[in-house]
Amino acid sequence: MQHIQHYIGGQSVAGQGGRSADVYNPALGEVVARVALADQADVNAAVATARAAFPAWADTSPLRRARVMFKFKELLEANQRKLAELISSEHGKVVSDAMGEVTRGLEVVEFACGIPQLLKGEFTEQVGGGIDSHSMRQPLGVVAGITPFNFPAMVPLWMFPVAIACGNTFILKPSERDPSAALLLAELLKQAGLPDGVFNVVHGDKEAVDTLLTHPDVSAVSFVGSTPIAQYIYETGARHGKRVQALGGAKNHLVVMPDADLDGTVEALTGAAFGSAGERCMAISVAVAVGDIADALVDKLAARAKTLKIGVGADVEAEMGPLVTRVHRDKVKGYVDTGVAEGATLVVDGRGYSHPGYESGFFLGPCLFDRVTPEMTIYREEIFGPVLAVVRVPDFESAVALINAHPYANGTSIFTRSGAAAREFSHRIQVGMVGVNVPIPVPMAFHSFGGWKASLFGDHHMHGPEGVRFYTRMKTITSRWPERLDAEFVMPTMK
Ligand code: NAD
Repeated sequence: MQHIQHYIGGQSVAGQGGRSADVYNPALGEVVARVALADQADVNAAVATARAAFPAWADTSPLRRARVMFKFKELLEANQRKLAELISSEHGKVVSDAMGEVTRGLEVVEFACGIPQLLKGEFTEQVGGGIDSHSMRQPLGVVAGITPFNFPAMVPLWMFPVAIACGNTFILKPSERDPSAALLLAELLKQAGLPDGVFNVVHGDKEAVDTLLTHPDVSAVSFVGSTPIAQYIYETGARHGKRVQALGGAKNHLVVMPDADLDGTVEALTGAAFGSAGERCMAISVAVAVGDIADALVDKLAARAKTLKIGVGADVEAEMGPLVTRVHRDKVKGYVDTGVAEGATLVVDGRGYSHPGYESGFFLGPCLFDRVTPEMTIYREEIFGPVLAVVRVPDFESAVALINAHPYANGTSIFTRSGAAAREFSHRIQVGMVGVNVPIPVPMAFHSFGGWKASLFGDHHMHGPEGVRFYTRMKTITSRWPERLDAEFVMPTMK
């Protein structure tokens, strides 16, 4: 049995906390490793190490920090498949999907390679007679990242390349359900020449998280996970004087207008709803059928869902794998039971699915509901599994009103041939990330990622320009170099 340890100061560390948790291979349905769960002393040791590494790293020139990122990018490319296989073995997503996850993370490293340009300040000459003013952005200190199970490489990569390139030192607390990807990333950073102590990994659960949230030497916390925990992280971190960005859960709607290309939309919806077994914060979980397109849409979606290829990680044909744990699979199944009990029409029922040769794996077939209404539990709550709900609305106005009334506001999309409808939708919809004929509108690394309302607590989105703002604070300097300084007793005005 493999024992997964912390990574502090450039070394693997067993830690003092006696607790540990099971890590599963979801396709096999078996425990394959145990991961150490940090106690307060373990987290304190990581914070002390990161704090000690901070002054020298903050004083390293942006150009040198960028060179570490360039090297890290090369190493990530060389190890992409190894990382993807590791992700697949603990998360369950198919390897081709995990390769895509790594690519999206790599793009943030590419963004961070541009840090000398991104950290340039502003300068105004002669703001007053003989007076100049300039601003600069400086790192915060020790910053922490707390990440979810569903993207064990990409979500940490949204955070630490930017944080580190800005001159901070970092403590990652990855999901205890798939902890190994974080350690491979740590190893590659070391090979890239990152000084020990700049990047650290502590595994753990609430005890580790609470220690980070209340520790006086942690300056900022980035979080991605479910909404109740995101809100807790935001409130607790802010109460302890930290800068916090906490991204939460989602219920993403895709509006199908009557003029949409139906076959293309069905393909897009199928991938967006069932890819990665629906365990994506940007997965589409609600299809909003506008007007008389509903019957044809449901028929075609049902036919396509029935041909979906389910498989294990290495299967190159597979379009979706198992869910992450038995507990989570059973929770998703429970939602399907509730949907039936509340009166939705279950058109495709994946509850009985068992994968040949992997009968103990945490598989669930795709589920499609029709005639879902806003009062139903399966509409209101995030399910985070391969379950797609179709809501029928009479017109565009009702679709906009439906989406704007939902508390979650991560992503949304409209499929239409009408530029006017798409433009109106983009303008009026109260959601952070919007797609037009794009089912999963995840912004590229050089833009920023984040939802609205219950999908994000805090003021900054992640990576891109918002990431640089989050991980730095601004200082503005007003200076003059006169031959002789005269005392001034009145409020200075710019002459
Ligand atoms: P989760 O909230 O259970 O866990 C996220 C992190 O918080 C983990 O590191 C976990 O150890 C920690 N944690 C869990 N319970 C805690 C507690 N009581 N106190 C302190 N820390 C705690 O989320 P998950 O199940 O790992 O991930 C799935 C969720 O993440 C979904 O809701 C999904 O929508 C969301 N998500 C959101 C985004 C986004 O960008 N908005 C991206 C990916 C995932």
